[in-house]
Amino acid sequence: MPKEILIIEDEQGILMSLKDEFELQGYVVHTAKDGERGLELARERKPDLIILDIMLPVLDGYEVCKRLRMQEDTTPIIMLTVKDKEVDKVLGLGLGADDYVTKPFSFPELTARVKAIFRRTEEHVKGLTRYSFGNIELDFEKYEAKKGGKKLDLTTLEFHMLKFFIQNKGKVISRDGFLDRIWGEDNVSVSYRTVDTHIANIRKKIEEDPASPKHILSIRSAGYKFVD
Ligand code: CA
Repeated sequence: MPKEILIIEDEQGILMSLKDEFELQGYVVHTAKDGERGLELARERKPDLIILDIMLPVLDGYEVCKRLRMQEDTTPIIMLTVKDKEVDKVLGLGLGADDYVTKPFSFPELTARVKAIFRRTEEHVKGLTRYSFGNIELDFEKYEAKKGGKKLDLTTLEFHMLKFFIQNKGKVISRDGFLDRIWGEDNVSVSYRTVDTHIANIRKKIEEDPASPKHILSIRSAGYKFVD
């Protein structure tokens, strides 16, 4: 079964060239030029991945992302950003996007991100399926998490990062380790700040006191370590 990608982008030129390129690579591509139509197609077609521009007519990309996650739609989302300000928002708001690419981007760069997400999803289904620590319960098959018995919202990227932590329990993982494993070999444009921001977001969700974490520890000038 070919993977299906939904591209939501109002710039006709970018939309058409992405559609052509991804179709050449064997993906089935759906397109929408505004946020509302994008949401409809996401519900109807259930794509394997969504590429989502931020500045869009009717509903902007932030809103589309937020609404999908509110409906418990966990489809991986790559956001197309223009300014640093938007990158900060994508990373900081806990919108639930899995990755972002800054315009102007090259097609190989975007493809590398898309492939990294698909590879991650495939690796994810193998191995560890459930794990509990403290008052946190994780189900890696269903992408469900609970904290003290109550539902906890984690993005798919956060699940993948936690799984990587748990598989390396007690060992120090460097930021480069995360970049290689989570973002793939072609991670040149992903910064350490991205790794740090996602880890800060995970701590806010799982730690009792994110300022003095008990599970995800910072190891000075080396990286991070997970302990039960
Ligand atoms: Ca736009």
